Amino acid sequence: MKSLAAIVGSVCLLLSATAHADQAVTVTRAGSQPSSTGAAAYFTGAVRIDSRFQGSDPARVGGGIVTFEPGARTAWHSHPLGQTLIVTAGVGLVRQWDGPIQEIRPGDIVWIPPGVKHWHGAAATTGMTHIAIAEALDGKTVTWMEQVSDEQYAR
Ligand code: MN
Repeated sequence: MKSLAAIVGSVCLLLSATAHADQAVTVTRAGSQPSSTGAAAYFTGAVRIDSRFQGSDPARVGGGIVTFEPGARTAWHSHPLGQTLIVTAGVGLVRQWDGPIQEIRPGDIVWIPPGVKHWHGAAATTGMTHIAIAEALDGKTVTWMEQVSDEQYAR
């Protein structure tokens, strides 16, 4: 005779299988989303954003691939639940408020803790591409602040 725990386990397995029966793996094809431009209010220089993605509720992860031309960078900003950057090309820079500028290269993974004021972008003479990933808190992934001045960018 099956134990009650085994029966409950079987029913739970069945329920979890049927609950997700209408959920299909989705492949968003390259080229199906047009590239977009980083808004002048939040970026300095030429910035292109591709492959934007957003998990559906209850997931709250989202992001995209961001390409900065030489000298281009974000404004100062923070993320309510932090951000991960994975550098995929070029040479970049990241700096937190009152911290040193750090050079970042392909394969480097940057973690920006929640609420930490920072910027990221390309090196002065070399472009940089990173994948950016952040989770939303109350639908918000970023708090934008003032632009990074040329003086701050040059250290
Ligand atoms: Mn950031």
